[in-house]
Amino acid sequence: MNAHPQTTSPLDPVPQLDLAGQYATIGGEIRTAVESVLASQQFILGREGAAFEQEIAQLSGAAHGVGVASGTDALILALRACGVEAGDEVLIPPFTFVATASAVSALGAKPVFVDIRPDTYNLDPSDLARRVTPRTRAIIAVHLYGLASDMDPILNFARAHDFRVIEDNAQSIGANYKGRRTGSLGDAACMSFYPTKNLGAYGDAGMVVTNSSEMAARLKSLRNHGQSSKYVSSEPGWNSRLDEMQAAVLRVKLRHLPEWQRRRQAHAAEYTKLLLGIPGVAPPFIPEGYEHVFHQYTIRVERRDALVQVLNERKIGSAVYYPVPLHLQPLYASLGHKAGDFPHAEHAALEVLSLPLFPELRSEQIVRVAEAVCEFVTH
Ligand SMILES: *Cc1c(COP(=O)(O)O)cnc(C)c1O
Repeated sequence: MNAHPQTTSPLDPVPQLDLAGQYATIGGEIRTAVESVLASQQFILGREGAAFEQEIAQLSGAAHGVGVASGTDALILALRACGVEAGDEVLIPPFTFVATASAVSALGAKPVFVDIRPDTYNLDPSDLARRVTPRTRAIIAVHLYGLASDMDPILNFARAHDFRVIEDNAQSIGANYKGRRTGSLGDAACMSFYPTKNLGAYGDAGMVVTNSSEMAARLKSLRNHGQSSKYVSSEPGWNSRLDEMQAAVLRVKLRHLPEWQRRRQAHAAEYTKLLLGIPGVAPPFIPEGYEHVFHQYTIRVERRDALVQVLNERKIGSAVYYPVPLHLQPLYASLGHKAGDFPHAEHAALEVLSLPLFPELRSEQIVRVAEAVCEFVTH
């Protein structure tokens, strides 16, 4: 089924991501699904979206799914459904995509940063307590790169303070934490189906999943102009709906997700086998009892930017997620942070590098990438 040639020369580029390669394997199924939406001429809040909401809720081990227009909207609406208002504070890690913080800012609330653990790159629960003020309302735990945050201490802390917990699960759909799925752990969890995510649409799409039927009803109203029934609005809402075309595409891809996830994990294991024990390279760390779904295969390496150069010269793709921690973004200059405030996040931003990883990646490509990394660190 692979549309790519099965042999590579050392000169063939290895992309960081290859969505065209994936489309070549599923194009027929996708076109059939899209044709059927076109034939129905139902584009907003129809059967495909409703079925997809149920499927994602089930995959996440949650009771309800509410489809929205993007992962960012999922965060904004989940924060609102959790009661976060202007002037409130929300605890978040500074080492994540900017949307985690800008969703908080969009409500007029304030992101308050909590440092990360240097081994998992996720929020450090032991750094929570000193960030709390009388205005703290909620915590967003980001499951970065495909690995769950350490949720038990976060949930215990939140329970003790009566804070809401939102999972930013944009990168970790299907991941497991001590036998439980990401998405089922907090008060609500937010998914992104941005095209490059493990389950990616052909446009923007997102979802909130929750076990609370009250919150699900509120989210359904918020995404549709605050309407409690047709043409009756009970609060200011928004237009943020996951359309039928995207839902149809996503339902096709969802059938392939378990196999794609197995391949991502197999590729990651192969990289780690080749990189483990090489001085100067830290492969991803997976704590006992976690299942990593490898949205990214992210190593840690000194002189990272020089390694990027070397990989570029060999036509090997790579990416830095994320080079500037949020507390040092111009956007948040008004918060008054300086270098040194969140040392683990800052150190990670200098050293992380995500290597090529996608289901269709081949063994000889992995070997080529790993060899390039090994040569770089041993010279
Ligand atoms: C992608 C992503 C988002 C935003 O999702 P969009 O669908 O692009 O709006 C939020 N948080 C994290 C961690 C992400 O990776």
